[in-house]
Amino acid sequence: MKIIDAHNHPDWHGHDLEKFIANMDRYGIEQTWLLNWECPEHEYATSYRHIVPASLLGSQTGPIPFSRCVSYKERAPERFIPGYCPDPRLPDACARLRAAHEIYGARVCGEFKCRMMYDSPDALRMFKVAGELKMPVIFHLQYSFQRTDNDPWSEWWGGTIDTLERVLQACPETIFLGHAPGFWIHISNDDLWSKTNYPSADTKVIPGGRTVELLRKYSNFYCDMSAGSGRLALQRDPEFAINFLTEFQDRVVYARDYFDNTHQEFLDSLELPETILHKLYHKNAEKLVVE
Ligand SMILES: [Zn+2]
Repeated sequence: MKIIDAHNHPDWHGHDLEKFIANMDRYGIEQTWLLNWECPEHEYATSYRHIVPASLLGSQTGPIPFSRCVSYKERAPERFIPGYCPDPRLPDACARLRAAHEIYGARVCGEFKCRMMYDSPDALRMFKVAGELKMPVIFHLQYSFQRTDNDPWSEWWGGTIDTLERVLQACPETIFLGHAPGFWIHISNDDLWSKTNYPSADTKVIPGGRTVELLRKYSNFYCDMSAGSGRLALQRDPEFAINFLTEFQDRVVYARDYFDNTHQEFLDSLELPETILHKLYHKNAEKLVVE
């Protein structure tokens, strides 16, 4: 089975190109969507500092510079699809997006992760250009929770699930992929979204969640199952996951955002029909990348 990891990053969690490719080979991953992350340095939590080397390399564009995605692509062109999302508040954001597409082969607009409401006029303008360029947008949505007194920084990204709905409505020509805790927590129709990023592993899903509602309502809406948030949303209730992945078999993509194999192990344990697995593992991702 061909496998595409639709969400990962260069120089991430201690992986240089060589380690990255060895890791892909180990888990049978043929291609990876390699995403940047652009935002001002003061917007991302200090806890990220040890897993992104940007400041070490003098990056002026935030935690994961697009230049690293380009570097991987140039050295291993068959293995990577570069993704680029500018900070949409920059006056030349749309020009940057076009240049990344035209000159450097970016085919995905991601990862979008800035400390701002995602339905701001600047973001909507960028999403429309992404749609015009046929670049699917991958965004990180996360609610704010106060942490400890020693670390009062409370990260939040994008707004709420209602912000997301306004974005989907405003940009019907753009494809979006839901990602991160603030999106996946809404797989269940409960109030956990207001309490935690990660529900405990045995919390059953209550039908009627906004995630499902938005997928049913908006045909331009997809999701990536990457990271703990995506895996846990499915793993917390495997029976629900089978129904979810069957209903949305054309709009979910396999993705990791990390270097372990837990997403594959879980997916394979569900004993889904081969036709569905082909879509999740590669066909849906291939459909979204337009040359
Ligand atoms: Zn990511």
